[in-house]
Amino acid sequence: MGSNHRGGSALGLALPYNSSPLRRRGWKGERVHSNLFNQPFRIQTCFLTLLCSVLAGCVGGPTGQESAVVTRAQMQMGTLVKITAVARSESIAQAAATAGFAEIRRLEEILSTWIPTSELSRVNTSAGIMPVHVSPETMTVVRRALQAGEMTNGGFNVVIGPAVEAWSVTEGQHIPTESELEALRPLVDVMAVHVDVREQTIYLEKAGMRIDVGGIGKGYAADQAVMAMKKAGASAGVVALSGDIKTFGQLPGGKRFPVGIQHPRQEGSVLAWIDLQDEAISTAGDYERFFERDGVRYHHILDPRTLQPARSCQSVTVVAREGIWADGLDTGIFVMGVESGMRLVEALPDVEAIIVDYEGLVHVSSGLRDRIRKP
Ligand code: ADP
Ligand code: MG
Repeated sequence: MGSNHRGGSALGLALPYNSSPLRRRGWKGERVHSNLFNQPFRIQTCFLTLLCSVLAGCVGGPTGQESAVVTRAQMQMGTLVKITAVARSESIAQAAATAGFAEIRRLEEILSTWIPTSELSRVNTSAGIMPVHVSPETMTVVRRALQAGEMTNGGFNVVIGPAVEAWSVTEGQHIPTESELEALRPLVDVMAVHVDVREQTIYLEKAGMRIDVGGIGKGYAADQAVMAMKKAGASAGVVALSGDIKTFGQLPGGKRFPVGIQHPRQEGSVLAWIDLQDEAISTAGDYERFFERDGVRYHHILDPRTLQPARSCQSVTVVAREGIWADGLDTGIFVMGVESGMRLVEALPDVEAIIVDYEGLVHVSSGLRDRIRKP
């Protein structure tokens, strides 16, 4: 399948990866279409990409060896997942891409709250009743989510789901009253999440509580898919679950993977480019899912203190070694705002960020200043 090109950068692999999310149906608590979903042209382009997505070719590698590059896309986890695999032969690259998709499918079955039999759905339906035994994967995501909550001073909240649903930003577009939100407050209490590492169980103390890994799970899935691809023999590649992107190795020819960061107020234009190698990138933005009423934008990232849409940023892009941190931290830092958010980023090794504040000012962490390119 696909055509073979030899030599140089015959594939023209200026990768159309973009750290801005594009999704159709999210996990529970994010019954979504993004603003892009309302744009027929963009969606058409997206499906065209999907149809033409099995692209394969051979190009010269850094050591003069031939490498095959395969790119494929599928809908998974309610979003467009795009995988590029680089390997010494096309069949290995294809197998690696297949292994990446299979791993994401496996995790979806464990973690998606759209699937009633998933582990997290069982945790949620057992809220206030009993602890539920879960797999190591679910333990990892939930423990990291709680850690992300501590690191971001409560900005990230893994049990925010009932409040997200009350807003139903992409469906009912309902502005909940203060008393509606107050009634939900006991349910979004992270102290009522009990993780027993020895027993491998998770227990939500109050009926009606719900774990929602929509703000961190795609980053984890990208990490795990990369591991599966490496195991299947890929030497390099990219896994992009919409805007949650994880890269490993280099493109044939020794180039890093270029990723465009979406401008939060100019749809379709790139704020900055960055080249990644063995790094993940993730963006949380108020432009992804929102509605406007009386000139006010109501979007999908809530401030757990007020249960209102967080107001201090337009977008937060985090670059980290692992997707789980890039994804978990972008949402939490979005809530924290520029000042304390940047302080956190500067204190963490291997974590960098680009924050666009509520006025549209762009703040870049010290480790990225020399790495980003303006379009
Ligand atoms: P995306 O899913 O677009 O990559 P994020 O990583 O920013 O975006 O996650 C947004 C999703 O996380 C929301 O749709 C919602 O389900 C959930 N969410 C909203 N506010 C918070 C929060 N303060 N903490 C954790 N998750 C949140
Ligand atoms: Mg996130």
